[in-house]
Amino acid sequence: MTDSSLNELMRQLPQVEEVLNSEPVRVAEACAGHTIAAEAAREVLAQTRTALLAGDITELSKPALFEEVAARAYAKARPSLHPVINATGVVIHTNLGRSPLALSAIRAVAEVAGNYSTLEYDTEAMGRGSRHTHIEQLICALTGAEAAMAVNNNAAAVMMVLNEFARGKEAVVSRGEEVEIGGSFRIPDIMQMSGAHMVEIGTTNKTHAEDYRRAINDRTAMLLKVHTSNFRVVGFTESVPREDIRSIADKENSRRSAAAAGAEFDELLVYEDLGSGAFIDLPIFEQFGEITVNFALRAGMDLVSFSGDKLLGGPQAGIIAGKKSFIDRLKKNPLARALRLDKMTLAALEATLRLYLDPWRALAEIPTLHMLTEDKASITQRAEMLRDAVADAIPSGVTVGLADDVSRVGGGSLPLCELPTSCVSFDFKAGCGWSAEACQAALIQRHEPSVVGRVQRGRLLLDLRTITLAEVPVVAEAVRSLFAGEAD
Ligand SMILES: *Cc1c(COP(=O)(O)O)cnc(C)c1O
Repeated sequence: MTDSSLNELMRQLPQVEEVLNSEPVRVAEACAGHTIAAEAAREVLAQTRTALLAGDITELSKPALFEEVAARAYAKARPSLHPVINATGVVIHTNLGRSPLALSAIRAVAEVAGNYSTLEYDTEAMGRGSRHTHIEQLICALTGAEAAMAVNNNAAAVMMVLNEFARGKEAVVSRGEEVEIGGSFRIPDIMQMSGAHMVEIGTTNKTHAEDYRRAINDRTAMLLKVHTSNFRVVGFTESVPREDIRSIADKENSRRSAAAAGAEFDELLVYEDLGSGAFIDLPIFEQFGEITVNFALRAGMDLVSFSGDKLLGGPQAGIIAGKKSFIDRLKKNPLARALRLDKMTLAALEATLRLYLDPWRALAEIPTLHMLTEDKASITQRAEMLRDAVADAIPSGVTVGLADDVSRVGGGSLPLCELPTSCVSFDFKAGCGWSAEACQAALIQRHEPSVVGRVQRGRLLLDLRTITLAEVPVVAEAVRSLFAGEAD
């Protein structure tokens, strides 16, 4: 481009004022507000100027520029945290917020959020109460525990249990259970942060009762068992049954009791980080060795902890349940104050737990449980609806159809479990101008709400297991507007 034509283009570049007075930007400003619209105008103008000077663009369309500013203003006005449609088929999708809440839990959150509440108020005593009361009895009734409490998440629960009982002392853990979950939760790191000294026993694939016995000395405070959530050691493996760990601890406690001769002594405690924390014995849990909280407690654990938003299907929380004397100590730990739950989470947790009082209600109303147990035939019905709703909008070179595939549980739960499912699939002929990756990007970045599918060997799959009936028309509209746009 010659200098004079570049100068001519630069002269054509509108002022901020002109951009703000254009039709599309005026409409966007009405929704996004003046500050955001003006910021969007300045940014787009600056970028366009840079691109012109660099020779990256050689012509200027004002209407296109106005549209770009309007689109940017809308994007800036959108909350950063906003809903998406999960078409990945991963039920407990950590990046997408794990478990959606049941309707009764959503209502409970709204009521408590917009009003004063009994968060720490006892209506009987007409004075100060405890925030633990809202959930403790429910957890005890549902798990058979003597006492219970909840903190920010399960990582916090593990941290607090180790800190209270094993700080400055030793906690024994099998090498086969030294897990890392989601990159930032690693047993050795949590151990160190809590002030506990980790004593590793056994090997990655085998740990024997004798390994536990040999590791125990006067400084041993805890035998820790950790659910190997997101992996399985298969083949030549051995771990020690809970009952055996229990009796090893009992034997040591008798010895300590005798040595103390009536004086107080520190009990050796058996604690299991259960990870997911199932309340109901579903067939798929049984099939993949996922035990219930009640089962772990009956097998002799003094304490267990688990997440609120994994298999339980509630809000983010870490629940600790077990012997009353130990829970009482935990409630007094300074970390309990630092890691405590807020009123909205407590409201959601209490409402979710209440649903479990009737297991059939829990299965029907807790979205996570419903999605995990829905059979393929009823998922296929939704897949057919979605396919039929988009069939006449598919461009040439693209084929839409139904595909049998498998959904995953996710959230580090039941890693080997594959749930048979129905997807709507999109296949792309080479050179047709469309691709699975580009369609996936458009559905995520250019549609509101974003629709997150999965790309598998060049095809785009929308898994209906995690798409509700109410979302089917929304996804159909997203697909139709995607294909109504221009191919990349
Ligand atoms: C998921 C998980 C955690 C972490 O729980 P958060 O609620 O995400 O903090 C800890 N331990 C195990 C075994 C887990 O599976």
